[in-house]
Amino acid sequence: MDMQTIIADWKANAERHVDRNFRFLRSLKMKNERAVDRAARRLHDEAFSIIDCIQCSNCCKTVSPMFIEEDIGRIAQHLKMTEADFKVTYLEPDELGDLFLKSVPCPFLADDGRCTIYEVRPKDCAEYPHIGRGEIKIEGLPVFTDQAGPFGSTTSDFERTMVRLDTARIMMVIISFIGAEGMDVALERAAGLLTKYAAATKIEAGVVEEYDPEEEACWLGRTSESGHRPP
Ligand code: SF4
Repeated sequence: MDMQTIIADWKANAERHVDRNFRFLRSLKMKNERAVDRAARRLHDEAFSIIDCIQCSNCCKTVSPMFIEEDIGRIAQHLKMTEADFKVTYLEPDELGDLFLKSVPCPFLADDGRCTIYEVRPKDCAEYPHIGRGEIKIEGLPVFTDQAGPFGSTTSDFERTMVRLDTARIMMVIISFIGAEGMDVALERAAGLLTKYAAATKIEAGVVEEYDPEEEACWLGRTSESGHRPP
């Protein structure tokens, strides 16, 4: 089967089995995290053993990487352009101010499927699809739970706690893996987005560095070797 057929087949299967995929992804949240890590790693290796990225190039054709300042400096120097010219020529900000390509397919993708700036390509491209660099490590990630037990993302994939059209109050949690640094900027952005897209009012924000189950009705725990900590 050639790459285009494989891609078309994947897309058709994803659409055909959307409910089954949804239930499967939701069920992962309740499984043993190490087993999920191992399965994800095995499936990643299996998938990439049959994918020839140069034949496929679907990512470079359909998704823009994010360009951080280090990428821009490195690539502009490689192309003998100023950083300002590079930005004006190729990039535009999204609503959060992050820089992405003005259009896809990527202008640095050659007809033969190779990246013409491969040695200096953006970090986002070098690490894409971000799941093959080792353990995914869902172990140790926070678990959200209330009196009825753990739940998944409240935006779409957990029916009991999902945000619906008639939802009047929400709690948004931003998880930082590098401590509190930069959280003020993240909170400001989140508040701006909630105001802009959800007409939010009465926004309260704060940084929680220590978990105290007595303080919150809906609290944050951590997975442990033995599984989820009970509420
Ligand atoms: S910079 Fe290279 S690897 Fe990244 S999207 Fe463009 S062509 Fe693909």
